[in-house]
Amino acid sequence: NKITIAIDGFSSTGKSTVAKRLAKTLGYVFVDSGAMYRAVTLYALQNGFIEKDCFDQDQLVDQLNNINISFKFNEDLGFAELFLNGENVEKEIRTLEVSQFVSQIATVSEVRKQLVKQQQNFGKDKGVVMDGRDIGTVVFPDAELKLFMTASAERRAKRRYIELIERGDDVVYDDVLENVKTRDYIDSTREDSPLMKAEDAIEIDNSNLTLEEQFEKVLNLALE
Ligand code: C5P
Repeated sequence: NKITIAIDGFSSTGKSTVAKRLAKTLGYVFVDSGAMYRAVTLYALQNGFIEKDCFDQDQLVDQLNNINISFKFNEDLGFAELFLNGENVEKEIRTLEVSQFVSQIATVSEVRKQLVKQQQNFGKDKGVVMDGRDIGTVVFPDAELKLFMTASAERRAKRRYIELIERGDDVVYDDVLENVKTRDYIDSTREDSPLMKAEDAIEIDNSNLTLEEQFEKVLNLALE
């Protein structure tokens, strides 16, 4: 079995869904690294470091040591929820507002350095499935299995839109599509650890795969 599994790809390709299920099946820890960037973004919003599209990077970097991120396993949900300075913010980090600023926050090298260190610790001495943008390239360059998930922007936006509507968020499809495209652009063109497929990653285009087909494929690769 593969012990460290890295799943990267564009926004809303269903990385977390697959990663969560894979971790559960294998008895591994699942870590959603995007949730950590979202938590830093939520902190920046709550503390007024982002106002009217203006982002005070120095202030955020100054406060980085006051941002405590932890995960606590929820038996009922079957995965670990994110806590920001002791508060469960699993719902708050998934809003479109956080999505609209997170990629900008994720360009800040100091933020990345801090989160990458923490992510590497999660993978120490145990099986881990981690999903994100730089897991196979930066966080775990030696991961035994690297996957790179893709799907068309429209399909991904639709998936994210349905998720948000089901949660009761008041969003418009076009805004979600625009956000997915903007994040893909910022994530793949930033200077520090841009989103890209690791050389040894296996690409999975899930545009035309059912969840079941996709999972079977990934599980077989993990068990090889
Ligand atoms: O995976 P999710 O869509 O929740 O990630 C939110 C954002 O966090 C991404 O669009 C990206 O800007 C950033 N991110 C990152 N590196 C990671 C995971 C997420 O830069 N490993």
